[in-house]
Amino acid sequence: MNKATKPISNYIAIVFDFDKTLIPDDSFNILLQDCQIDIDYFNNELVKPLVSDDWDKYLARAYCLIKESQQRKNNKITKSKLIEVGKKLKLYDGVTTIFDRLQQRAKEHEIELEFYLISGGLVDLARSTSIAKYFKKMWGCELHYNERGEIEFLKKQMTHTEKTRYLYYLSKGIDKENERDLIYNYQDFPNEKVRIPLSQIVYVGDGTSDIPCFTVINQYGGIAMGVYPQNRTAEEWKHRENISSSQKLSNLVAANYQEDSEMMLSLLLAIDCISARIALKKLSLGE
Ligand SMILES: [Mg+2]
Repeated sequence: MNKATKPISNYIAIVFDFDKTLIPDDSFNILLQDCQIDIDYFNNELVKPLVSDDWDKYLARAYCLIKESQQRKNNKITKSKLIEVGKKLKLYDGVTTIFDRLQQRAKEHEIELEFYLISGGLVDLARSTSIAKYFKKMWGCELHYNERGEIEFLKKQMTHTEKTRYLYYLSKGIDKENERDLIYNYQDFPNEKVRIPLSQIVYVGDGTSDIPCFTVINQYGGIAMGVYPQNRTAEEWKHRENISSSQKLSNLVAANYQEDSEMMLSLLLAIDCISARIALKKLSLGE
């Protein structure tokens, strides 16, 4: 029996995007609506001119939202408002049930399964949903609130490429103290210190903001899964995103997470597949 050349990690991580992956909407728009802000006016009259002036779109959106709040005499936009809106967000069918089901399958393989969320949106919205408790960590854009709880500044942004940084974080194993030091040097990170290899990560996302993550996951042999709305077709999605071969997906699935759905089956098969690879490694070590 030859020794495996790589150390074994007994973990699998499933990483979800949030907007249009676990919920049918863009959570930022739901927040705007709830704050009685007209979405078209906000995007066309406020955000668009800034983007034309070379602003990053997500920074521009946050800036305009903060300005709107500051201009108000009453009904300022606060952390409590974000929590209230987050609690009301509608999840895709079956989403609340997937975590226990997937944990059960991982248990059958004697594998530790962890869930993570990497959102391009305001993460305090996602953190207020009923499914937040299932995630080991949730990352996204973060707002700074003043002493009255009013939104005041964007303290953390999550661009499309920034999302990949968090894949590396969770792969290396993160604690608060060293979070800042872990970036930009994945390839030289010693194998024996990797907590969850990227090959043992499943990434589920719906769109353009997920393409850099699909690329990284493919590069390291993980499983990338695309999601499209139930009322659209897979062909439309592919056409829209113009996916290249380096960004290819293991499956492109409708956003339905119910028990007999293709999505649920795909996630279970992904766990089976990675578990089998881990079992093979264990075998080679004679475990
Ligand atoms: Mg999305």
